[in-house]
Amino acid sequence: MKVCKEQKRDLKAVRLAALVALGVLALAAGTAPSARSDEPYARSRDYDLQHSKIALKFDLEKKQVIGDVTHSLTILRDGTTRIWFDSVGLSIHTVTVNKAAAKFDTTEERLIVALPGEAKAGEKFDVEIKYDGKPTKGMYFILPDKDYPDRPRQVWTQGESEDTRNYLPTYDEPNDRLTTDTILTVPASWVTVANGKLMSVTEAGNGMKTWTWKESQPSSTYLITVVAGEFDEKKEAWRGIPVTYYAPKGRGDRLEINYNRTPQMMDLFSKEFGVEYPWEQYAQVMVDDFVAGGMENSSATTNTSESLVHPKLASEYALGQDDLISHELTHQWFGDLVTCKDWANVWLNEGFATFGEMLWQEAHYGKDRADYERWKDAREWFGRPNLFKKPMVRRDFAEDSDEFDGNAYGKGGWVLYMLRRHLGEDAFYTGLKHYLQTNRGKNVVTADFAKAMEEATHRNIDEFLGQWVYGAGAPRFEVKYVYDEGKHQVALTVKQIQKREGAVGLFRVPVNVEITTASGPKLYDIVVAKEEKIYTFPASQAPLMVLFDRGGQLLAETDFHKEKKEWIFQLKNGSEVADRADAAFVLGRLHGDEEAAAALGNAARSDRADGVREVAAEALGELGGAAALKELQEALKTQDKPWVRQAQVAALGSFKGDASVGARLEEIAREDGSFRARAAALEALAGAKTAGGFEMLSAAAAGDSADGFLRKAALRSFAMLGDNRAVPILKEWASVGKPVDTRTAAIYSLARLKKDDKEITEIIAGFTNEPRFSIRLAAINALGWRGDASAIPALEAMLKKDDLSIEMVPMIKRNVARLRGGGGTKGGSHATSEEASTGSGKSDGDRLERLERLVNEMNERLKAIESKLGAK
Ligand SMILES: [Zn+2]
Repeated sequence: MKVCKEQKRDLKAVRLAALVALGVLALAAGTAPSARSDEPYARSRDYDLQHSKIALKFDLEKKQVIGDVTHSLTILRDGTTRIWFDSVGLSIHTVTVNKAAAKFDTTEERLIVALPGEAKAGEKFDVEIKYDGKPTKGMYFILPDKDYPDRPRQVWTQGESEDTRNYLPTYDEPNDRLTTDTILTVPASWVTVANGKLMSVTEAGNGMKTWTWKESQPSSTYLITVVAGEFDEKKEAWRGIPVTYYAPKGRGDRLEINYNRTPQMMDLFSKEFGVEYPWEQYAQVMVDDFVAGGMENSSATTNTSESLVHPKLASEYALGQDDLISHELTHQWFGDLVTCKDWANVWLNEGFATFGEMLWQEAHYGKDRADYERWKDAREWFGRPNLFKKPMVRRDFAEDSDEFDGNAYGKGGWVLYMLRRHLGEDAFYTGLKHYLQTNRGKNVVTADFAKAMEEATHRNIDEFLGQWVYGAGAPRFEVKYVYDEGKHQVALTVKQIQKREGAVGLFRVPVNVEITTASGPKLYDIVVAKEEKIYTFPASQAPLMVLFDRGGQLLAETDFHKEKKEWIFQLKNGSEVADRADAAFVLGRLHGDEEAAAALGNAARSDRADGVREVAAEALGELGGAAALKELQEALKTQDKPWVRQAQVAALGSFKGDASVGARLEEIAREDGSFRARAAALEALAGAKTAGGFEMLSAAAAGDSADGFLRKAALRSFAMLGDNRAVPILKEWASVGKPVDTRTAAIYSLARLKKDDKEITEIIAGFTNEPRFSIRLAAINALGWRGDASAIPALEAMLKKDDLSIEMVPMIKRNVARLRGGGGTKGGSHATSEEASTGSGKSDGDRLERLERLVNEMNERLKAIESKLGAK
């Protein structure tokens, strides 16, 4: 499962800006009460579920599922007299065992069925259950209503991690696998998608049709999918297998531009993994209001309809939607064909899917882009300190879905990247193939992976896994060197300075050191294992550049003490993206330095990698000063790619108070060729609070653009501008009937303005009654941020509703607590930055650093909240 990267990054940027602007940093008090954690250990089983025939109908008025499921199962233990299924919130009408009526009992979480007598291991039973239910999770009904009468109808499911039980009584843990027949009776104009092969579509009378799907390869119940509704469809084939794409009706023209690389990815992964795409179809269905970015149901992925980017915007993203598409496709092997036995080992799903994203980036976008993405992933991972202490395989999930964290994903992908380097490509892929072949159709833990890799390569990877997977953290290095002219040698001191506590220990890692002198570069391999050690290398002259971990091959953070001229040399001459990006980043810290500005300007204009040009532009913004501004303005003239241009424009926004900057930003906001650059300019204008800012933002909010892209940017930016004249505009765009994503942008900003105006609070409180998940969510958070205690009754009233998803409850409670003053934010952003830095004698640098750390922690918290909302 995943949230696609661009989305994630955009979300994060907005969130950080919002956090700082809204002064919610003090929210840090109080933790979310946990809802229910996923089971960290696999259950012991009484039976083996082998096949389920699942027949479903829907009562759309009532948002009800009417089900008739027959489970064919084999008893595993002698003397079993009753068996149970996971079943939450379902009304069970009848149960038969081998067609005879059976006694059954229900609890809040189980359906318990009596067998006719004491069963023996190996005995087979058919258990048929007739039931209905109105699921609040697991199955979702997206329907038109009076406010959105044209919305395409959609019913879809989301099983992972343990939600299938909310619409289907079943064995709902990953450690059992079954085949399925899925029989869906729906209105004749609808389309359905389920696991496996479409067998038939037949008339069912009364304007209905029955669709029958058959999945003949077993997978776990969290991978069962049911999608039905009004969709546009596009069909093609890959090696004789149907490859289909679905968009909510009316958006079928967006499938091609966003999804057309799918068959190429199937080619690549079939080749690299050594096992051909294993299922009988590959469907990708894009649904509205999806609770995650994407979900890899066996043979039939469900993705958010946000991945159907407007054709005018699609090309403005470096990787398009490919991270999402390649991630879910990789899961069809790693996750679906071979499945983690328990959630503690979920990195075997998510780490591999993240690695699959890298493979596609390398193959399709080239090494430089893949290296840049990996460099960013490492920074993001180190920026989330909560992850550092946690081993990748762990059992202490504090909250629901806690295990779907940045370790399972980002670090997991990195670990596989490092393992490939550690073993060499041939051995690594030979091992992967063997792992897939020996475990296909099975459930695995990390030890199964280790065993398969060793069997295939005769290389023991226990130590590697011990430090990276069972251990926590990553190396933090402090490095410096001296050149001894007499001995003609470089002495490199390497210290491991990560805090060793809990599961974080010393690392033993291979490191490439490159020493470049006037006569050229020389590469050396060393192994770093000690807390501190000095390594010596021959060098006939003083080095021009010393690289430790050349190319950033390790998930590590390195503080390398070098002189400015060395960083400048490295930015210009480093052969690898990671080394040049590191240099740009460090040079950006030399505030106001003119030589740094010249070097960064050169890189921002002409580095061969667009990723480095992006980092260099950001670094110029960070650097500040007249020289940096001039360089940045020169870089803007290059008409670079939209994602680079966005970084340039955002950086320009940090030169506040310069009249020429304001004018340039206005010009870009009005007429740049890139929508992303225009949006960045609007945000920068708001941040700089320029004189004409309000007029610019108002004009952008009034104008039309692809999917209202610029309007949303303007509405979001009004919060930062803090001008109360925006209130009527925000009220208008927050109102019912406007596009949902535009409304959420407006709601957040509205909450920030005219804080003493009770009417605004009432308007936002009114949104908590809407059926749309994202509007409710925005309203709940916006009320908390607004800080007006008169919203408390509205929030408390929500808690009494029966159509609340359980994830919403802690969020409401937390915001009520904030409004009551428990960890709330009475002051504005100034009060907050003072709170953030308790020592009054601290320097600005200290204060900033503390604030940054706090923001990171907040970010971590918000991510946890988001992941609980299903953004896994
Ligand atoms: Zn995933």
